[in-house]
Amino acid sequence: MFGTSVSNRKLYAVRVGEGAPCGVAQYAIHAREWITALLALEQVRYRGVKGSVWFIPLANPDGALLCGEGLSSVNNASRRKFLLEVNGGEDFSLWKANLDAVDLNVNFNACWGTGKRNVFSPAPENYVGEAPFCAPESAALRDFTLKVAPQYTVSYHTKGEEIYWRFRQPVFRAARDKRLARALSQSTGYPLREAKGSAGGYKDWCIQTLKIPAFTVEAGREELRHPLDRAALSELVEKNLGALAALSREY
Ligand SMILES: [Zn+2]
Repeated sequence: MFGTSVSNRKLYAVRVGEGAPCGVAQYAIHAREWITALLALEQVRYRGVKGSVWFIPLANPDGALLCGEGLSSVNNASRRKFLLEVNGGEDFSLWKANLDAVDLNVNFNACWGTGKRNVFSPAPENYVGEAPFCAPESAALRDFTLKVAPQYTVSYHTKGEEIYWRFRQPVFRAARDKRLARALSQSTGYPLREAKGSAGGYKDWCIQTLKIPAFTVEAGREELRHPLDRAALSELVEKNLGALAALSREY
């Protein structure tokens, strides 16, 4: 356990393997992308990783539960009222944020607030928060990452079957990072993309602050609808089971 959520749920990390290279793989930072947490449980069991990987299967537990179970997952009456107002209805199946309506993956201190789709008041998605790391979940993820000092990180999202690896790296680091990205691409079959207008994400922060290679994997075919459900899991597992092993061996 390395931290707690807005509603005091525990944030868990589990390590597989030992020594270097050490990776961090985090999943479901966006609530509606909870299917990736189930992918994490499969990847944890896969052998073949060189060194070690810290798995964080559910980076946004409150949000994932809200998405799956709706307001009945929220204990506090005033928070239920707040969420209902922000969401504009009781269907939370497309919710991405945490229980403060902060989108955790734009709350990191990496050109914070400059992203193309950023919004500046509470919302189901894209709200950057009042300040970088104002969300307990993103602050905990930052502190955990600084503590274990990984050589690379991978963030699992849905959907579109593509891999993002770029965030303003200088040329010499871009060459290293692209080589590693290619290993991920070969293993998954997903093409590499450069995200224009990205800012404040965990991957962005890892690249800018830690100066390590960091990747966002968008798993799941684009034609599937949010939120991807359990029927999509077998295909996600098939394409991604060996991805971290392939990346670690290329490192
Ligand atoms: Zn996402």
